[in-house]
Formats: sequence, structure tokens, C-alpha cells
Amino acid sequence: MNTNELWQAVLGELELTLSKANFTTWFKHTFVSEIDGQMIMIGVPNLFTKAWLEKKYAKEILHSLQEHTNNAIRQISYRVEARPANPQIITVFEKEQASPTQSAQPSSFHTPQQPQKEIRTGEFSLNGKYCFETFVVGKQNELAHAAAQAVCSQPGGVYNPLYIYGGVGLGKTHLLQAIGNELIRKMPSTKILYVTSERFTNDFITALRSNRMNEFKNRYRTVDVLLVDDIQFLGGKEETQEEFFHTFNQLHQNNRQIVISSDRPPKAIQALEDRLISRFECGMLADVGSPDFETRVAILETKCKEKAYQLEREILHHVATIVQTNVRELEGALNKIIAFHQFKNVRATLESVKPILTSFQPMSTKKTITPKQLIQAVALYFDLQLDDLLGQSRQKRLAFPRQIIMYLMREEMKASYPSIGAELGGRDHTTAMHAYGKISTCLLEDERLQHDLELIKQKLYAY
Ligand code: ADP
Ligand code: MG
Repeated sequence: MNTNELWQAVLGELELTLSKANFTTWFKHTFVSEIDGQMIMIGVPNLFTKAWLEKKYAKEILHSLQEHTNNAIRQISYRVEARPANPQIITVFEKEQASPTQSAQPSSFHTPQQPQKEIRTGEFSLNGKYCFETFVVGKQNELAHAAAQAVCSQPGGVYNPLYIYGGVGLGKTHLLQAIGNELIRKMPSTKILYVTSERFTNDFITALRSNRMNEFKNRYRTVDVLLVDDIQFLGGKEETQEEFFHTFNQLHQNNRQIVISSDRPPKAIQALEDRLISRFECGMLADVGSPDFETRVAILETKCKEKAYQLEREILHHVATIVQTNVRELEGALNKIIAFHQFKNVRATLESVKPILTSFQPMSTKKTITPKQLIQAVALYFDLQLDDLLGQSRQKRLAFPRQIIMYLMREEMKASYPSIGAELGGRDHTTAMHAYGKISTCLLEDERLQHDLELIKQKLYAY
């Protein structure tokens, strides 16, 4: 994506939310004048427009820009300026042809095609803040972290593909981006492409529709490193999977590195073709889990340093005790504390911090779960039909997940054994008791099962 395309994409979105008149008035002669790190400068035709955009549309514009740049942009400024005849176009990573303007965008914004000046930079797709230096390693993520570093020291080597999976907010995107950032730093000419699987899907569909498959293939199949985030969204999209399969093979055969992230292991992705599953499993699988207390404290310390804000150890411990589930929430809690105290301009104490964290208390944040949601979550995780799961068949592939449901109903919902039996297609309460006992015992030894349950719970309680 180049600056021009980026702005077109933002305008395309804004256009949907505004009346035509409004849109034309305020946005017609705007363009990206400059990008400097996290700051973007928008050229506008007059002071009036400048004031209006600052006052009325700041939030929407920033939001949309961030969405398209993976939060790389933090600040917008406006400057009265005529649109230059030869706007400088900054291309990110992929060398793109000056592309014919995209059909979805308002025609009034088409700029004449220019020979492009290519500057390789990571600032759009890759967010520089996600690097190894800022990633805290604990027991729950050391494997994924080590694998990610190994990939950096020998891209396309033994860990290919690297498949990182785990629940929300546990650092998967951070690791993927850290790989990209590290490789760019070490070998600036490396062609790296970071996409979410949704972005891949959209690109594919757009290319199909506009007859630009060659360009699409050229973009995806010629990179040195392909980082695909949240691959689970490919589930059920058959044509996209087919295309991804070929992309994957082409890259893999040429020893190009592929790194994939997902919220679950390959097998648990619903409606994912077997051949893709086996491709994913042939490389390195590494999971990330919830951080333990010490790691949570270490993460808080790192984040404080990053934000140049000091909090006493006692306070950090308190935050780490209250916020346990994932790192994103941990960071959210910290941000809230910092914002509050900076706004009031007072020093944080344990007493002043406590009330801020009430919304993070495990009990109040935990969603109330219904039996139906729980059954569905387990069905989804193991890719099973509800009918089968609640039916009478005693096949192992059904019986075991069924026992997991019964265990979780007891453990998470404190349901009675008879009611558990009833929810599961009218089974006897002794069956539920047996299931609870069995899973509890298995859990003591079986790490894989522990992990499965952890992931199911994360999904269940995610908002
Ligand atoms: P995921 O992609 O797994 O949902 P992210 O990578 O987006 O999670 O992480 C959410 C937030 O938590 C990010 O701001 C990230 O920097 C931070 N984070 C996650 N894990 C760690 C870690 N081990 N050390 C430091 N920051 C982390
Ligand atoms: Mg992510």
C-alpha cells in the first residue's frame, strides 16, 4: 500500500458515513502530504477545511488511518497546501505497479499515475513497537519466542512454517511483527509481507473481481517472508484456501519463510482443508499461554519503561494480581492508571489505583455463560456438529468432548450433575459425575488437555 492508496482507502470509508455534499466539501482536495514516523500530514485546500477536519472528523480519520496501518499512525496534522503535480508516493515492502485506481473509490480522487519512488519502510504493515526487545519472555511463551528468534537467524530454515497459536491478547501479533522488524533490521532488502488472513482474503477477492490475479500472485508469491496473522478466519473460505495453498507451496518450495498465527491449533480450525492442516503441521507448532504472576509483573515493568512512567512495585503487584487473563488487558489496566493520574496530576498510590481496577476484577469481568454457549464453544473447538455431540453415539471423538463439556459446566458454571445430564441430551447424572472425575484426573497429567481447556475458556470468555 502506498500513501495515496492509504488515503483513498480512508476516504472510501468516510464516504460511506457522510452525505455526498459533506464529503465533497471537506475531503475533495485533501491528500497525504507527508508521513514522518507516526505522524501523518494531510494537505488541505484552506484554513477553513483545516479547522473543520480537526474539529469534526479527527476521530474518524485517525481511527480509519490506524485501521489501515495497523496502528502505526498516531497523530494527524493538517497543512494548507496545494496538491503537488508529482506527489511522492511511498511504497511499503512490496514493489507495486502504479495500479489502476480501485473501483470502490470515489472517482474524483484519482490522481494521475506517476512513476513511483520506492522507499522501503516498515512503518505501515509493521509496527516498530512490536519488537523482541519489548517482548517479555516467560514460561508460557518461551517456545514461541525461541522459535521466532530461530526463524530470524535462519529464515526459511527448519522452522518453516512456524505456526504460533493461543488465546486473545497473548502476544501472537507482537511476535509475528517482531520477526518482521528484526529481519528488516538485519537485512533491509528482505521482502516482508505482513497480512491478516482477512486482508489476504480481501486482496484475493478484489484481484479476482478486477482481473488482476497476476498482480496478486506477484505480490504474494515473490516475498522472502510471509507473515499471516489470525489464519483461523480462512476456515470455510474454500477458494481463498485454495489460493493460499498454492501461495504457501510456492513460497515453501523456494525456501521462503512463512509464519502463521491462529487462536487455535491447525486441526481445530473449522472447515480447514486437510492438505492445509498437514502443511501447517509439518513445520513448527508453538503455543502461547496466559502469563504467570512473575511474567505479568515483568510485562508491567517493561510497559512502564516504554511509557516512561514510574509505578511502585507494590502497585505493579496489585495490578498483576487483579488482571490475570491476558496481556492486552494488563496493558489496558496500566493505561487507565496512567491516564487517570496524569490527568489529575497526582502520584499513584495503592489506594488511588484500587478503584480504577474494579472493572478488571475477575468476577465482574467474567461473562455469565449459558450451557448452550459452552456446548457451542466446545463443538466449535473440536469441529463437531451439535447434533452429534448431544446424540447417543459413543464414538471416542464425540465421547471425550462431551466429557469436557460436563466438566466445564461443573467447574465454570457450578451446575448440578442432574442439570448437566439434562443439558447433554438427557443423560443420567451419574454419567456427568463420572465425566467430571475422569477429566479432573486426566488434567493432572495431560498437558495437551490442559491447554485445550485453556483455549476453550479463553474463547468462551472473550468479548
Ligand atoms: P494477540 O495477537 O495474541 O491477540 P497481541 O500480540 O496483539 O496479542 O498482544 C496484545 C498486547 O499485549 C500488545 O500490546 C502486545 O505488545 C502486548 N504483549 C503481549 N504479550 C507480550 C509480552 N510477552 N511482552 C510484552 N508485551 C506483550
Ligand atoms: Mg493478534
